[in-house]
Amino acid sequence: MLFAVPETPAEWYERVRAGIDADGYRDVDWRSWRSWPFDGSLWVRPLDPPVTTEPPRAGAGGNDCAQCERSQGAAAADYLVWRDELFMLGLPFEASSLPLAMFLMTRRHTDLSGLTPDEAQRMGTLLVEVERAACQVLAVPRIQAVRWGDGSEHLHWWLMARPTGMLQLRGTFLSHWDDLLPRQPAEPARADAEFVARRLVERVGGEALAHPGRA
Ligand SMILES: [Zn+2]
Repeated sequence: MLFAVPETPAEWYERVRAGIDADGYRDVDWRSWRSWPFDGSLWVRPLDPPVTTEPPRAGAGGNDCAQCERSQGAAAADYLVWRDELFMLGLPFEASSLPLAMFLMTRRHTDLSGLTPDEAQRMGTLLVEVERAACQVLAVPRIQAVRWGDGSEHLHWWLMARPTGMLQLRGTFLSHWDDLLPRQPAEPARADAEFVARRLVERVGGEALAHPGRA
């Protein structure tokens, strides 16, 4: 069957809602997955209908954008570990539990669909080369690269890695495990990120930014 017009959000919701009413949620056996962080029963919340107008994301239009503010001036030395003319690597605002957690962001305020051809090309190179650099200097098997973009408008790829051999942290639930596990102290986390940044400079140029206390 061909559909001439894509479903509207309201139509999607009505169809899905009717399916839930008829058959319930699909039965996903996450509890059998070793990577599922929880034990016991969880209950799925009722599915909210779509809103008519989405709320603005943080930093919308470049106003009060945390990424823009933290990447400029003196604050950049705390926030960033690497930058070139187009992109920068920053650390999460709150410390992570993982051996690598950083953001790949554009230098200017834009989102994924606003990239120039040069930015898009450089982004592809950097997604590849950050993984190569990280795997060379840290005991991580690969990087998980995730772009949600629902929280703030300024393009930021989440780059996260689990320790090699920690099979329970593989895949979809890595970010949930990151929320649950004790945070890594800020200073060694920063030092590890700087190792990656210096190797990245060797591979693709740009500038590694050392923390002022260690430069
Ligand atoms: Zn911004």
